Order: sequence, then structure tokens, then C-alpha cells
Amino acid sequence: MSSRLFVLAGPTAVGKGTVAAAMREQHPEVFLSVSATTRSPRPGEVDGVHYHFVDDATFDAMVAEGQLLEWAVVHGVHRYGTPRGPVDEALAANRPAMLEIDLQGARQVRKTMPEAVFVFLKPPSWDELVRRLVGRGTEGEEERERRLATARLELAAEEEFDVSIENVEVNAAVQELVALMVDSTHEL
Ligand code: 5GP
Repeated sequence: MSSRLFVLAGPTAVGKGTVAAAMREQHPEVFLSVSATTRSPRPGEVDGVHYHFVDDATFDAMVAEGQLLEWAVVHGVHRYGTPRGPVDEALAANRPAMLEIDLQGARQVRKTMPEAVFVFLKPPSWDELVRRLVGRGTEGEEERERRLATARLELAAEEEFDVSIENVEVNAAVQELVALMVDSTHEL
């Protein structure tokens, strides 16, 4: 029996971060990758827990040294990437592992680790997605427009994924994800 890698992607503001946070709290047995990013922390975000907040030079070095499983410029601004070592260690220790990343990153992982399970988190509707993005209130007008444009493209990518989960309510989405992990363990 071996654990598999789960890649959770979906449009901006669909609630990937919230689902990942609930997973971290309710299912500590699942390894959740902590990404490196060049963006600054938002209030309440803790270095090493939500992200590894790094400067451009550090990110460059991580890329040059092949430390990242995937990386991408997200929303045309900052770089985000998945440190490879901790994911490999979790899988080697037979711990299910999950990445919460953007679509470009998911496509890279699809190439290098095609055995991973690709899960698309989708909103109940476009209007609901806009409502969540506006309601979050963490971005300015210009940034919000940029993210909505990205989200439109991202929604069209659903068919590239193995499974879709509609994020109506966070705990239900977490349960669906965990059920997938249990199923996939039995398959192997
Ligand atoms: P935020 O800045 O709101 O935390 O995240 C912005 C976007 O970056 C989200 O869509 C999130 O999925 C994506 N993201 C976070 N970490 C990574 C990563 O390691 N790689 C990639 N490709 N995207 C990431």
C-alpha cells in the first residue's frame, strides 16, 4: 500500500485555501505542502505555516537548485512554488500528501507525477465565485479584476482534472476529499 499525491486546484476565490485550512485542522494525518512565495504575508499569516515567505533571490536559488516540484507566477505578479523534499518525504512515509496550487502548477505536476490525483474545486456558480472574491475584501479593485480574468480561464480547465468537487460548504468538501484519499488507498 502506498500513499498518493493529491493536487487541489480551481479558480481563484473558490475556497481552496479554506478547504486546505480545514483539512489541516481536521486531518493532521494528511501532509499539506507549505508553498514558497515571494508575496508578503497578509495579516494573520504565519511564515512556515501558511507559506514560506521568501525574497526574490531566495526563490531564484530554490529554482536553480531544483528544489521546487513546480512553480508559477500567479495572477501575473508573485511567484509561488512547491518545495519538493517534504512532499517526497511524506509519500515515502506512506502519508497522503496534498498540494493546493494554481492551474499552471497542476499542469506541471501532471507532467512530472502523472500518477497523482488531480482534483478540481469548483464554485456552485459564477455569481457565487464573484461574490466570494468581492466578499473576501483582501484585494484592491485592480487586483480583483485581474483575479476574475484568471478565474474565467481557470474554470474552463475543469475537464483536464480527474475529479471535480463542488465547494458548497467547506466541511463537506473536506469530507469528499478524504473519501477520495481513502478510496485511492484501497485501490492500490
Ligand atoms: P494567495 O496569494 O491568495 O495565497 O494564493 C494565490 C494563488 O496561488 C492561489 O490560487 C493558490 O492556489 C496559488 N498557489 C499557492 N501556492 C502555490 C504553489 O506552490 N504553486 C502554484 N503553482 N500555485 C500556488
